[in-house]
Amino acid sequence: MKNVVIVGRPNVGKSSLFNKLIGKRKAIIHPSPGMTRDLISFQFKGWQLIDSGGIDFGTEEFSELIRNQVFYAIEEADLVIFIIDGKEGVTPIDKEISKILRKKNKKVFLVFNKIDAKSAQDFYYEIFSLGFKDIFKVSSEHNLGIEELKSSIEKELKISPEEIQEEKILRIAILGKPNVGKSSLLNSLIGKQKVLTSPIPGTTRDSIDMEVKYYGKKFIFIDTAGQRRETKIKDQQEFLSVSRGREALLSADIVLFLLDASTPITNQDREIGFEIEKNYKGFVFLANKVDLINLEKREEFKKKLYEAFPYFDYVPIIFISALKKYNIPKIWKYIIEIQNSLNYRIPTGLLNRTFREFILKYPLKDRKFYYITQPETNPPTFVLVSNKTEKPKQSFIKFLKSEMRKIYPFKGVPIKILLKKR
Ligand code: GDP
Repeated sequence: MKNVVIVGRPNVGKSSLFNKLIGKRKAIIHPSPGMTRDLISFQFKGWQLIDSGGIDFGTEEFSELIRNQVFYAIEEADLVIFIIDGKEGVTPIDKEISKILRKKNKKVFLVFNKIDAKSAQDFYYEIFSLGFKDIFKVSSEHNLGIEELKSSIEKELKISPEEIQEEKILRIAILGKPNVGKSSLLNSLIGKQKVLTSPIPGTTRDSIDMEVKYYGKKFIFIDTAGQRRETKIKDQQEFLSVSRGREALLSADIVLFLLDASTPITNQDREIGFEIEKNYKGFVFLANKVDLINLEKREEFKKKLYEAFPYFDYVPIIFISALKKYNIPKIWKYIIEIQNSLNYRIPTGLLNRTFREFILKYPLKDRKFYYITQPETNPPTFVLVSNKTEKPKQSFIKFLKSEMRKIYPFKGVPIKILLKKR
């Protein structure tokens, strides 16, 4: 995955250029406590675009941390998009940034934004003085030059076929105990859409894959037990004894874990939750049948749910009614968000920088850490390299995961941490 980082002083139009480049798609936003602005990224085939949030010099609100993030983002960049404001021309800060970029010896595309502004022409010659060869004149606001910029980026990156890897279609399984509303939910999610179905190779003949589209994007719903069929298997056994349920879980990327908000949480719910956790799946809690309960009961259910699943405090909950089609678009929104999170790869430099800060907060006397890497996504997997083979304390791993969740967008996604001795 190659990185393209957008930098520039505040208000030059970084966010709007970012938004124009990704089109109407949804970006990952990293909510970071104590940061003036979030680091935002979006994944294309083989590369990700990162909006650094801005380089600033000398203002006090600008914390050391975000400055470092920007520097690290540049460090990791295969290409830097450096924006200059066509209304203001080249400022001293722009000159500072240019200096840093030249020192880092990075490939830079200089983007002269807001060329629709009257003053832009007057400044055009100034930007040559910065010494960058590739200059693009755009107007994010008026959508001028965006497509050219994007195709030049892709040309420059020379993404290899392996990097592109035909985008994998996300597989979704709806799991929950019998009568919780799985079939109703599937019908509500799919609506009147005609679905392409095919048997899942190597599974029970009752299981079928259903390919559906949402805003042009393909998804596969794994039908766990003839959920879409008119007459359902009557005496559906418990989830865990139904091999189809397990097969669906194993081959899914995301699980919609359905619960009945109108009745108490049962052991069967707990078992399903346990299986999801054990298999490191991205998931969301869907509390169904809210049409049967009042607001107070909802809150109560939510409290009970997180009590029953204390290790799932990072998993969002959505109250829905499969029958009344309440909050169905919200489910789609989360599916896409979890998909982005599952596939998110943290640039190595940034990861190590933040990791060093974590271990300062929770020093371990019994070992020395050398570095951390993220060899895999879906689920995001990290390898901690230290001078010990034994696992560190469980509380340390827990702390680490929770700190990572504060900075990186791993909502509804399990984090795997492995250890390696050097
Ligand atoms: P499955 O066994 O999990 O596939 O559950 P079904 O989808 O067959 O639903 C079981 C029963 O719950 C049916 O009678 C549905 O009409 C009912 N049901 C499903 N969703 C809702 C809902 O949101 N509200 C209410 N009141 N009933 C629902």
